[in-house]
This record gives sequence, structure tokens and C-alpha cells, in this order.
Amino acid sequence: MEYKNNCIQKDLLIEFFKENPNRDIKHPEVVDWVFATYKERTGKVFRDPDRAIRQLSQSGFLIKVAKGIYRYDPKKVQQKELYDFTPVQKKAILERDGYKCAQCGMGKKEGAELHVDHIIPKDWGGLATVENGQVLCSRCNFLKKNLKQTTSGKKCLLICMKWLRRRIMGK
Ligand SMILES: [Zn+2]
Repeated sequence: MEYKNNCIQKDLLIEFFKENPNRDIKHPEVVDWVFATYKERTGKVFRDPDRAIRQLSQSGFLIKVAKGIYRYDPKKVQQKELYDFTPVQKKAILERDGYKCAQCGMGKKEGAELHVDHIIPKDWGGLATVENGQVLCSRCNFLKKNLKQTTSGKKCLLICMKWLRRRIMGK
């Protein structure tokens, strides 16, 4: 029951932000609206809108402009969808890679926790395509993230990426 209510509350917030796109919205404005609308439609009190807003921001639906100010940018949300693997894509990548880390070959049997990784990282323009996906264990995934953060590692990755981009995307 609580889950269902949470969904309705989230939908209500989404409804508000979709009607107010591309505008910096201060916290009280949205909270007042959802409180009133929720009460009007269900007769109940909307609990903890802050948490629901935070969740929407964490999931990438909202952009946090500043403390207590959020913005909904439909273009950004669409882009995000473009860059994130869908469950179907994830499954296809896992199956293609045989449920094993593409780097070290460890699988679930060996106790590895598997992730689906963007070969060309999202923030470098890598798309969510099965071709740009690979299975990594949490250890290799961590190492790759670390590599991305150091200057020499970044250089090294960028060279690899150029080569990979040609191979994957034909560019
Ligand atoms: Zn690995």
C-alpha cells in the first residue's frame, strides 16, 4: 500500500514538472502544489515530498539547480534515456559476454559481482547500444573509473577510445 502511494506521489510530482518545463522551480512552489492537489484528489496528506523530489533528482529526471531549486528539462531526460542501457540491452550484453567480466574473465561462479559498463563512457558521448556495452566485474569497473580520474590514465583511455570508437561506431 505504501509503495502504491509512493508511486502516485511520484506521478503527481512528475505531472507538475512536466507542466512546468525549463523553469527553475523553488521548493515551496512545488510542495504547495502537490500538497493541495494530492489532498484534493485523494483526501490524504502527501508525506515527505522532499524525499520524492530527491529521488526524482537522483534518477536524473530533475536537475538540481541549487539548494531547493529544481528544473525539468525534457531534452536532458530524453538524452539520459539515450545514454542508459535498458534492462533488455543489459540482458543482451550479459548473454553475449557469457556472464563474465570482459577484462578478467571472472563470472558469478567465481564470486564476481557483474556490471554492464559503457565501453566509451557516457560522459564522453558513449551511447547505450549493445555494441558499446561490456560486462565488467566490480573490481575491473572500479579500476576503470579510477583510471578515468587520473591525468595519465585519462590520456591512455582516450587513445583506446579513439581506436574503439572507430571499431564500434565506424567513426
Ligand atoms: Zn574483472
